[in-house]
Amino acid sequence: MNNIIIIGSGITGLTIGSELQKRKIDFKIFDSRESIGGKIQTFRICKMNLDKGFQVLLRNYPSLKIFPEINDIEYMDFKSGFIINKNNTFFKLLNPLKNLSGIFYYNRFPGFSFKDKVLLLKLYLMKNKIKNDQKPLDFLKNFGFSKSFINDFFVTFFQGVFLDKSLNIPLNYFLFIFKLFATGKVSIPVNGINEIPRTISKKIDPNKINLNSKIKKITKNQIICSDNKKYKFDKLICTNPQIESIFDTEINQNIFKEIKYNGTSCFYFTVTITNIEEKIIYLFPESNLISSLYFIKVTDNKHIVSISSLNKTCSIDDMKKEFIGYFNNIKNLNYLKRFVVDEALPVMNSFYNYNSCSFMEYSTNIFFCGDFLASPSLNGAIESGENLAKGIF
Ligand SMILES: Cc1cc2nc3c(=O)[nH]c(=O)nc-3n(C[C@H](O)[C@H](O)[C@H](O)COP(=O)(O)OP(=O)(O)OC[C@H]3O[C@@H](n4cnc5c(N)ncnc54)[C@H](O)[C@@H]3O)c2cc1C
Repeated sequence: MNNIIIIGSGITGLTIGSELQKRKIDFKIFDSRESIGGKIQTFRICKMNLDKGFQVLLRNYPSLKIFPEINDIEYMDFKSGFIINKNNTFFKLLNPLKNLSGIFYYNRFPGFSFKDKVLLLKLYLMKNKIKNDQKPLDFLKNFGFSKSFINDFFVTFFQGVFLDKSLNIPLNYFLFIFKLFATGKVSIPVNGINEIPRTISKKIDPNKINLNSKIKKITKNQIICSDNKKYKFDKLICTNPQIESIFDTEINQNIFKEIKYNGTSCFYFTVTITNIEEKIIYLFPESNLISSLYFIKVTDNKHIVSISSLNKTCSIDDMKKEFIGYFNNIKNLNYLKRFVVDEALPVMNSFYNYNSCSFMEYSTNIFFCGDFLASPSLNGAIESGENLAKGIF
């Protein structure tokens, strides 16, 4: 009898669970959290579903093909384009790849020259993988984009996606994500981002998922929970690199101890506001606090505004002041919630192995997988889980 234990009920652990369930292979999932989803959490606050951090689903992520039911979720789709604040004025930037008129007429944003528009098209039409180890910012500069478009658009938008102002990520991964944003739908489930792991978990027998089960120690063939219960394993699958730190010295190879994470914070307020557009991402290239925000209408005179910041120490009052500074037609600004996520996305490292095998055989019976071995996204987590299930079962 094979005892298979998976640590983690995030997207990676759930993907492996659903693949094993499909193959009628027995397993147990353990997670220290009280709910499934790992980094993908939604909280019910004041009768509203608030996500722990601004997370979107790119509906054309290739790995979603193994979960067609994710497509059936009810979504709020973002409009394709941005509103950028520059010199105290809001400019709407239409996506010229989806709306050809965006090339010629409507985009009045001063940093978006005709040459930039043509280059955007050229970038999109470029073949999928290029042999080039330049950093994305050097690549964009050498490609010919204007300095202002690189700073006001590429840096301002993608720093929020990769949680890194210097966009220090593999160039091919940057181009892959750019194309997905440029051409596909960008959505959040109406009931919150946690609807995605919930949907995947429906493919798994709930008795196989043990929540509130923190693993405190791992030896070469058993895990020990914080309540001291012990479980033997024939195969152990760890979906987070920090799990290595609780390995017995006999088995710990200290492979992942250098992995670091970037963090972010996200504020939610309710507000009465006019002259804004809903469901479109606002960008603030001149702000040190706000990287992006969006509005959703709750009632005729009430919106929720979700504001993301790379500054994890920003206070609620400072964020309020900054927000009011940009929008003068505001009434009733009420604080709802602030989430600080210290360990959101892994910083570029040697394991950040976009598009290769994406899991690791650590020893004969212990395996690692997860976004940190693929790419830091839902797509990377599913891909890593699927590859592991295919590779070892
Ligand atoms: C703020 C933020 C914004 C993001 N934005 C996007 C986005 O817009 N689009 C996108 O595609 N992706 C986004 N991501 C990335 C995406 O959420 C992750 O890549 C994905 O959820 C990782 O899933 P995972 O299963 O690999 O890891 P995790 O979700 O980290 O799962 C690992 C699990 O292991 C459990 N665990 C660890 N140690 C132990 C232990 N000792 N005992 C028991 N359990 C343990 C943890 O509790 C956790 O539940 C974002 C992430 C964050 C945080």
